[in-house]
Parts: sequence; C-alpha cells; structure tokens
Amino acid sequence: MKTCPICNSEVEDHFELCWNCNYSFTEKKIVEIKDMVPGSREINCLRCNVEMLFSGEYKFHEGTRAGVFGNLFELLIKRQKFELYICPKCGKVEFFSPTNTTYPL
Ligand SMILES: [Zn+2]
Ligand SMILES: [Zn+2]
Repeated sequence: MKTCPICNSEVEDHFELCWNCNYSFTEKKIVEIKDMVPGSREINCLRCNVEMLFSGEYKFHEGTRAGVFGNLFELLIKRQKFELYICPKCGKVEFFSPTNTTYPL
C-alpha cells in the first residue's frame, strides 16, 4: 500500500493512478482525464423509457469476499469503479463501467 499525497487515499502499489483524485504517481501530479465526468451519460430505462438518474459512483472495496467467484472476480473488482444509475420510475438500478477510462496498469 502507498498513500496518495493529495487525498490520503490508500492506493495499491501496482496502481500508478489514485482511484480517488487521479493523482499520478509517475507524473507526480493530478492528471486530467477527459470523458471521465461521472454522471454525464444519458441513459433511458428500457422498461419505462424515462431518463435514469445518476446516483453516484460505487467502488468495490478491496478485500470484498468474492466467494465462489474466486480470484478472477477479485481481480476484476479491484480495478473497477462503477457509475450507478437509478430509474426514478421503477427503481431499476444499473451499473456502468467508465469505459473511456484507461488506467495505466
Ligand atoms: Zn488521491
Ligand atoms: Zn424504469
């Protein structure tokens, strides 16, 4: 574990980028990543055809018990941050992975 000097988040050693504030350990500054603005998607609920509401980002915590999914799943969740959208009408929740983001792993 290393600690981000900007926001004090704990970052895994093999990450070059702070998941919280985008501080780059290699460039020693916060990197701006365009197209990374959370909540900028326009998503309609397939059922109700109303716009789904952005309700924040969800990050899987390190050390989450993956159970039957095993190591592969654990590997995935350690790298993933999801955007959470909720349909205001039927309450359907959808997760979206910020696909425009490339982490320098
Ligand atoms: Zn940080
Ligand atoms: Zn809906």
